[in-house]
Amino acid sequence: MAIEKTLAERYQAIQTRIRQTAERIGRDPAEITLVGVSKTWPTEKLRAAYAAGLRHFGENRAHELTEKAAELATDCPDIIWHFIGHLQTRQSQPIADHGHLFHGADRPKIIGRLGRQLNENGRQLQTLLEVNVSGEASKGGFPAHNWQEDNVQQQALKQAVQLTTEQNGLKLQGLMTMAPWGAPAEEIRQIFSQTRQLRDWLAAETDIDLPILSMGMTDDFEIAIEEGATHVRVGRAIFGDRQYN
Ligand SMILES: *Cc1c(COP(=O)(O)O)cnc(C)c1O
Repeated sequence: MAIEKTLAERYQAIQTRIRQTAERIGRDPAEITLVGVSKTWPTEKLRAAYAAGLRHFGENRAHELTEKAAELATDCPDIIWHFIGHLQTRQSQPIADHGHLFHGADRPKIIGRLGRQLNENGRQLQTLLEVNVSGEASKGGFPAHNWQEDNVQQQALKQAVQLTTEQNGLKLQGLMTMAPWGAPAEEIRQIFSQTRQLRDWLAAETDIDLPILSMGMTDDFEIAIEEGATHVRVGRAIFGDRQYN
């Protein structure tokens, strides 16, 4: 059981770092949710993380989330499933059926599609708009690298908020972003700070409360907490290095 012990220790170490970072800047650690990103890992690993205390699991492939949700339904009944990243339209049904928090609302089409599916199954799905604040072409999300100046970006973002709130089954809760891979800490901090400011602006403009900020991964979650993250998505630091993806 050496592997499970290691995983439990890693999980505890991340929780400790989250708490210490929050306390250092005067935030309540209870405001911050650790989403363990379990993508690519077999369910034995998820069971070990669950036994260690993890309840929020993040996946980025619809079929993988479906299989894992089915396998773990009996033994790990209170798992909260997060879908992180890009969701193809034709693969949205499993997220409508099993997802709790969808971090990847990155275009009107997926918002409308999930809205219709949730009307049919009667579920509620908490939803975050994914915003591309870094402007990297490789990143998904609503374009937002110039949201303070660019009226087109501003209008599209406000329309995305409206469209999401029009779907009865979707509960819009905030924004998700990703920092550039391997960028200097100050650049990463800028991206997270901009995302928080964008959240504040959008909430004021639309008069809709947007309490959740999903930002920060293994290499930058402490910066994200300093800049206001309420959800950090940590994979490698808990589960180890992935073979792919
Ligand atoms: C894989 C992934 C993560 C976790 O990344 P780590 O570097 O393993 O912590 C977080 N967010 C998204 C959107 C991801 O795809």
